[in-house]
Amino acid sequence: MRSAGLIERYRAWLPVDDATPVVTLGEGSTPLLRAPRLGARLGVDLWLKYEGMNPTGSFKDRGMTMALSKAAQDGAKAVICASTGNTSASAAAYSARAGIRCVVVIPGGKVALGKLAQAQVAGAVVVQIDGSFDDALRLVRIMSEEHPITLVNNLNPYRLEGQKTAAWEILDDLGHVPEWMCLPVGNGGNITAYWRGFREAHERGDCDRLPRMLGAQAEGSAAMVRGVDVERPETIATAIRIGAPVRREEAGAAARDSGGGFAAASDREILDWFGHAVRDEGVFCEPSSAASLAGLANARRDGLVPEGAEVVCVLTGHGLKDPDNAIAESAPPVTIPAERSALEAVVLGDGT
Ligand SMILES: *Cc1c(COP(=O)(O)O)cnc(C)c1O
Repeated sequence: MRSAGLIERYRAWLPVDDATPVVTLGEGSTPLLRAPRLGARLGVDLWLKYEGMNPTGSFKDRGMTMALSKAAQDGAKAVICASTGNTSASAAAYSARAGIRCVVVIPGGKVALGKLAQAQVAGAVVVQIDGSFDDALRLVRIMSEEHPITLVNNLNPYRLEGQKTAAWEILDDLGHVPEWMCLPVGNGGNITAYWRGFREAHERGDCDRLPRMLGAQAEGSAAMVRGVDVERPETIATAIRIGAPVRREEAGAAARDSGGGFAAASDREILDWFGHAVRDEGVFCEPSSAASLAGLANARRDGLVPEGAEVVCVLTGHGLKDPDNAIAESAPPVTIPAERSALEAVVLGDGT
């Protein structure tokens, strides 16, 4: 199913028709991995939805296959987005695939290296501004309102329609609805999309209950946790470095109506859980994604999530997106002369 992409897999439940030119890179159908060691650390029955396995390395591809297919159907000549990085990488790739011009506006100096490389090499016009994501979004909204350019931020309704398919995959793979869903929250689009996906499956009779939704945020940009916008968001989790969540209302409703909530984690906690994920389970995600694990740990500590609960944590983006933080969080290579004895000393340990 993977090569077909999510529009083909879920065509019956998505707003496409026979005239829609499907712009796909084979997104979706990502692994749902059981994580026993990491789960033991958290005191829960843990599963990881590894969204880094999408074509450009993040869940943004789910929304982008829908947004670009509909833009192509509508005859769009250009698309534009503001981005903390992954939206730009995804928009650039899907625009190239569609043969549509792409402009991305990013906060200067705050986009992880891998994401910038992806947008640049795919031929998008990459514009850095001296400002935050929130400033970038304000500007691209004006461009799309004043000119014939399609906005592909999550204000574009088709983005969430694509993203909700991840909930259906979890239902298919697990065979039932997990007790808890936990995911990092920036603009709140993804938590809104999952909640919508589960509710639609419930309405169709594909499941008999709904999960509790837990949104995880970085302390320095915890606009949902605090209930007010954050003027100058600051965190190493740059994908969720957002002060004014676009989907604040819906994200809040998802947490509230599901009986879930929001949890914050410090940058240090996020980086620690980023390390645990790859060292306990071999699952390499970007630090922003590990906010879901760090937020879950704090929700466990605070008694919001009970011991032994079945939890699916969404790891939203691939570890290769952010090599700088990965290298900063790990031991450097051991450098030796090209000699057997030197290698032996390392392999066998110094004391032997
Ligand atoms: C976009 C993104 C998020 C946040 O998703 P929202 O829909 O903005 O809440 C989280 N993690 C990664 C890796 C992302 O790229």
